[in-house]
Amino acid sequence: MTRPTFDRTPRTPVSRRSFLAAGAASAAALSLPTRAATRGHRQGSVRNLIFLVSDGMSTGTLTLADLMIRELEGRPSHWCALFEREGVRRSMVRTASANSMVTDSAAASTAWGIGEIVKNGAIGTTPDMRMPEPLLHRAKRAGKATGLVTTATVSHATPAGWACNVPTGRADEPAIARQMIERGYDLLLGGGRRFFTDEKIALRPQSLTVFSREELLAAPRSLGSPLVGVFSDSHMSYELDRPETQPHIAEMTRVAIERLSLHPDGFVLQIEGGRIDHAAHANDAGSLVHEQMAFDEALGVAIAFAEHRDDTLVIATTDHANGNPGLTEYLSAGRTNFLRIAEWRHSFEWMTDQFQRTDSSPESVRAIIAEATSIVLDEDEMDTVMRWRLGERLIPFRGQDKGYGPLGSVLANHNGVSFISGNHTADHVELTAFGPGAETVPPVQHLSDMHHVIARLLDLPPALPSL
Ligand SMILES: [Zn+2]
Repeated sequence: MTRPTFDRTPRTPVSRRSFLAAGAASAAALSLPTRAATRGHRQGSVRNLIFLVSDGMSTGTLTLADLMIRELEGRPSHWCALFEREGVRRSMVRTASANSMVTDSAAASTAWGIGEIVKNGAIGTTPDMRMPEPLLHRAKRAGKATGLVTTATVSHATPAGWACNVPTGRADEPAIARQMIERGYDLLLGGGRRFFTDEKIALRPQSLTVFSREELLAAPRSLGSPLVGVFSDSHMSYELDRPETQPHIAEMTRVAIERLSLHPDGFVLQIEGGRIDHAAHANDAGSLVHEQMAFDEALGVAIAFAEHRDDTLVIATTDHANGNPGLTEYLSAGRTNFLRIAEWRHSFEWMTDQFQRTDSSPESVRAIIAEATSIVLDEDEMDTVMRWRLGERLIPFRGQDKGYGPLGSVLANHNGVSFISGNHTADHVELTAFGPGAETVPPVQHLSDMHHVIARLLDLPPALPSL
């Protein structure tokens, strides 16, 4: 597996205390207002928006990746380092949808997209079946370049909620893909070749298409034609399993920013770490931590672009929590076991694929798990895994006793990370804003509130009542 060659040079985080001390001293000496007080947040003062979504990220997921990065690289994650920067706003976000305290990605992204609370499964469609113009379309009409990047299918719920109005909902990915092409967004990168067929892409004949990492990295950095890049038939691979033909999320982010930032009137870009949610559903601690670490590299790329400018707002957030994982083992064993996750080589998805290629005997299953995780299960644990493979009920809570839940539970004995279920949860979630206008983000809000903050800061035209 080839790892991308990004600049991993740790940036020295400026501590809040040292910054404030220096800022207060120089401001007092010069009798000038501090930078925070002068930073503009007029309507329309934000030229570019980079909105990064770690899909299905419980606060525990953010914690686990930060713990791992600190252990491996001796620095905080890019996300947690933001908390110490001047001018950064953190917000606690409520996520309930119109018909569920536990939202799904469609209702959550649509809340951002149209600023209204809708039902689970809805894409740009209100409970009374109106279809207000979504955020990305408004940005395009305002003359901005627009882009969507994800590691899931491009037509998945989180990109779709910003870009489309599809009354048949999130499952209708063929219709979503068609609408994304027809609406002429400037850049679409991710998985889902099965939905982005040649015929559909041809609806915009001038599109530049790329189907591999190599082609993406060689794509010209110009805005002359829309860029459509689809790198897998369905979702892109988990980072742990990623073949060389698929780009890293940070590479897609870099190409997207390099292209879209050429636009004279600025850009709006959503970047989704879509498989973080899938790893949480699967209770796959190894994939979860590695996906969140990959997402953090993408965030680092966005911060590096924005930090020396005064016109780019970077938002890092999630649409809902999922599985609420946590390291829950004391003393040195907790740390030792957690660090084993750094050595995981493959996801649960890869393991089950391998199970099906063998005779499925206990010996084969044990060997495959050991190859993926370096963990050798004992007889009791193997008994549980084999019963799980036969579909037996093993965990009293049905929300956890499904999918890969029992496998994740067995492996928690070796990595210390446990989940409460294989479902999304109703937890409030984190939003971190960095750049001009960050101070106008409400400290407590609902997902739908962010739509109005963004529309005001970007000075978008009023939404068309229906598209
Ligand atoms: Zn999910």
